[in-house]
Amino acid sequence: MRSQILLPATPYMRSLEPRCLKESSIRSLKEQKGAIIRRHAQANNVKASMQVLTTLVFLSLLWWAALLSIHVSYWLTAAAVLPISLFTVRAFALMHECGHGSLFRTQRLNRAFGFLLGVISGMPQYVWSQHHNFHHANNGNWEKYRGLYTTLSVDEYAAKTDAQQRMYRRKCSVASLLLPALYM
Ligand SMILES: [Zn+2]
Repeated sequence: MRSQILLPATPYMRSLEPRCLKESSIRSLKEQKGAIIRRHAQANNVKASMQVLTTLVFLSLLWWAALLSIHVSYWLTAAAVLPISLFTVRAFALMHECGHGSLFRTQRLNRAFGFLLGVISGMPQYVWSQHHNFHHANNGNWEKYRGLYTTLSVDEYAAKTDAQQRMYRRKCSVASLLLPALYM
């Protein structure tokens, strides 16, 4: 209502009003987004240590519980696998941040904890982070990088034989559905 009073009441200016409001709200959202990102995009050694510590403590306790549960019931052991998997994925995520040099403030700490978290999540951290940086640098550039599934364009897919198309679909299904489950 207020902006209607401020704007001259010509048909042209009235037609601009929704667009002006839309642009200002988009600008405001972008500013808010930038402020949130700036608040969380700074490495903090204390917070990083707490994240690593809580992950490793809970993971150790869960492994210990899983080992003890063998003497009670295999179903209990199987049940322990789910939280172990989730904490292993968490270790992997922290390792990923170390690879970007963003978890701790110094490269030395990122390398040391990245190595440790890589051992825990079963990943050679340094090699993985080099490949991953290539992915970030070239993602979307199909001349250099086509992602995990070696994605085909529509024309390339259409040029394949029926059997090749079937193989491609199978490969994508296996990669997208089974690999995360296998990792867990
Ligand atoms: Zn990344």
